[in-house]
Amino acid sequence: GADREADVQTIAEPHVAHNYSPLPVTAATAEGAWITDVDGRRYLDCLGAYSAVNFGHRHPRIVAAAIEQLDRVTLTSRAFRSDRLEPFCASLATLCGKDMVLPMNTGAEAVESALKVARKWGYDVKGVPDGQATIIVAGGNFHGRTISIVSFSDDPDARNGFGPFTPGFVQVPYGDADALAAAVDDTTVAVLVEPIQGEAGIIVPPDDYLPRVRAICTERNVLMIADEIQSGLGRTGTTLAVAHWGVEPDVYTLGKALGGGILPVSAVVANSDVLGVLHPGEHGSTFGGNPLAAAVGHTVVDMLAEGTWQARATTLGDRMHARLRNLIGHGVIAVRGLGLWAGIDVDPYVGTGKEVCLRLAERGVLAKDTHGSTLRLAPPLVITEDEIDWAVDQLAEVVGSS
Ligand code: PLP
Repeated sequence: GADREADVQTIAEPHVAHNYSPLPVTAATAEGAWITDVDGRRYLDCLGAYSAVNFGHRHPRIVAAAIEQLDRVTLTSRAFRSDRLEPFCASLATLCGKDMVLPMNTGAEAVESALKVARKWGYDVKGVPDGQATIIVAGGNFHGRTISIVSFSDDPDARNGFGPFTPGFVQVPYGDADALAAAVDDTTVAVLVEPIQGEAGIIVPPDDYLPRVRAICTERNVLMIADEIQSGLGRTGTTLAVAHWGVEPDVYTLGKALGGGILPVSAVVANSDVLGVLHPGEHGSTFGGNPLAAAVGHTVVDMLAEGTWQARATTLGDRMHARLRNLIGHGVIAVRGLGLWAGIDVDPYVGTGKEVCLRLAERGVLAKDTHGSTLRLAPPLVITEDEIDWAVDQLAEVVGSS
């Protein structure tokens, strides 16, 4: 149970706070899709740092951009300009089909920033009475760990013990556009939604859901905010997951892979009629948009602008999903996902998700469980077909031989 896990961790890392329960693998180095531990054992990384390592560990082009920038200037704060920020923001805005970028660092910060922008837009543009703005969120959401964000989570582990909570959020079931339409009123300024819910187990919504969310938001003068922090930047086979449904939200939040697997880089991306509500002094971040982050982020955008990463995620993802679907009925109950991203519900008789991950790690495959018996795979997009086949073979052995 949790106590025994805490004991094990106290011995291994007595000075590290116990807010995680890591697999017993201690990384020393990594390259591409592979991690090497302190004893020289190699593991195929099928988690990709929760989709932050889309381009593989230490991609040479991203490392080169970082090193070049380390030799120029790394941090100025936003008190001065840097020659890296405007070009990065211009390229990211273009990639997303918008015209403005608010650079931040972590995913949670990007989400917090988007919520602040939505509230301000509600008061300044929509005309909602001061202090009354509400934002609609989805059941099962995961948007980060700040107090305001856990305020609208329905995961007891994320919430319990962290109140009092931030008011102004309304939750409706994920995938239910009718419930969403019914929840909108004159105080609604935004709908915040993950195009595919990652942490919840790679939940792909019904095909008409996101188009209907878009239509409701347009009709009711509400901002549609797509949190693409985990789903975006190539993972699902498109630059942005919403493109699978031909939907264009008003606001994107991006993070994880935007930092190229090197450092935290996040952003809110929207048009100036939305992001323009922020004026000097009203929001900020010491590190947001720093020259090093901008150089790395710009390289990531340039790589994605070529389109080859998305194509790779599609091809390899089709193969991964076809192979995974063969396991249904053989220790696996269901497989969900899109592109190189999969949620796998393991039959409870096989063991918990954590137990399956431990057995996979013994075989040299790193994956992560979520919510009991679901495994999630988000391997770096540099993984090869043979490596995918090998990883799925290991999973077949683990779920079949118990
Ligand atoms: N939003 C989504 C959809 C996420 O999946 C995550 C992280 O898993 C976050 C936000 C939070 O990002 P961070 O951990 O960088 O704060």
